Amino acid sequence: MEKISRRTFVAAAASLMALSQSFIPWREKEAQAFEYTPPANMPYSKAREEMNQLILRADRPQVVKVCENVYSAVGFAFATMILVVTPDGLVIIDTTESMSASKRVMDEFRKISNKPVKNIIYTHFHPDHWYGTKSFFTPGINVIAHNDFVKEAKLWGSMGQSALIRAAAMYGLFLFDDSMRVPWVTADPSVVAAQLKWEMPNPEDLVWPTQTFKDQYSFQIGGITFNLHHAPGETADQIIVEIPEYKVVCPADNYYACFPNLYTIRGTTARPVLEWAACQDKVIKMEPEFLVPGHGSPLTGKGRIKETLGNYRDAILHVHNLALEAVQAFKPIDEVAPQASLPPHLSNLPYLKQYYGYIPFCVRNIYHSYVGWFDGNPINLSPLSRKELGADVLKLAGSVEKVLEYAEMAQKEGRHQAVLELCEMILTNDPKNRTARLMKIVSLLALGKATDNSPAANYYTTFATLENNKL
Ligand SMILES: [Zn+2]
Repeated sequence: MEKISRRTFVAAAASLMALSQSFIPWREKEAQAFEYTPPANMPYSKAREEMNQLILRADRPQVVKVCENVYSAVGFAFATMILVVTPDGLVIIDTTESMSASKRVMDEFRKISNKPVKNIIYTHFHPDHWYGTKSFFTPGINVIAHNDFVKEAKLWGSMGQSALIRAAAMYGLFLFDDSMRVPWVTADPSVVAAQLKWEMPNPEDLVWPTQTFKDQYSFQIGGITFNLHHAPGETADQIIVEIPEYKVVCPADNYYACFPNLYTIRGTTARPVLEWAACQDKVIKMEPEFLVPGHGSPLTGKGRIKETLGNYRDAILHVHNLALEAVQAFKPIDEVAPQASLPPHLSNLPYLKQYYGYIPFCVRNIYHSYVGWFDGNPINLSPLSRKELGADVLKLAGSVEKVLEYAEMAQKEGRHQAVLELCEMILTNDPKNRTARLMKIVSLLALGKATDNSPAANYYTTFATLENNKL
């Protein structure tokens, strides 16, 4: 193999990502030779090219007038913040993850109405829907959420640091260069991409619910009715808000304009997928003229909403059924998951692109929600670790160099998962092997570049930069 210097490698890696050399903070050590030339060209996939076009058009914070008296602040933060004006005061639905963003939004809302805020509704416990409250909260405002809000928030907190690391990797928060981060893009009805604005609030800055309910809760302000329905889906404590006089439904995170994150790689307990699908029918029955989701732009028109939510439900059920059929047919999930996809009449819809939820990940988790971690194959009861299997592979190959040579060939063929598996086998046995680590970094970057799924792209790229710190 051709020997190349560290400097050459840096240049190649930088051009590989079509980004500046500052893309990766290579440590300033003496130049060191090693036997490896990264492939020169690893292009974006077609879907990712389309996504990149969406991202270019995306960053436009705006307060969207949904209808008379209802407004949604889109693009200021990761989630939306919704304003409902009644004759006697305001109701705010969700407050974003960021106090600076919610303050900006409230300044905009104040141009629309200076009436007092009466109630705040939290659609669920995810931080992007309530960490921003403190910026405009005054004592006396009623804060309404589901009974399980606090329990779910604490359950998430009990995962400790790993929850934060995984979430930060998935949203690209560790990536110091904005151009490395892939925002969550939705394609319909208008483009929306918003970066998570993570400000790590102090515990005393969190405003917890003052009132909770179990199945349904209704109240009126100024003659306007707010029906709050428990509707498990993205989370178990999810609630949707129906405002019949305005013909508005806020489906929270049970609808957003891309394939739903039925499983999230930041790690959660199994999400109630069937109830998530059922929620779409529940909303359709309410016959809203306006649908105002927790992420992205509002959707208008009874017929359009019905069709969209119907397709959304069908897509969720299709993916659920793929997993259940695999369980029933005793099929290995490792073979089923990578092939899993929607039928063309659904997969071509702009609001079912896998920019956020990714079907192979979802199928895997639904499968395991039925049978647990064991797939039924006795080989998998006590599998070898990568280190143990790696020791055998290295012995079989005769030398580490042979394995590296093979990995290099696999990398040139674009088989990056194989490269990762082989490099991991080497690194678990020889953590100081620089070539294996560099190859691993390049394949992580290539996978991050090729996927059209934003969480996966950020996760691969984040771990490529973390690996770099170990060089
Ligand atoms: Zn959300």
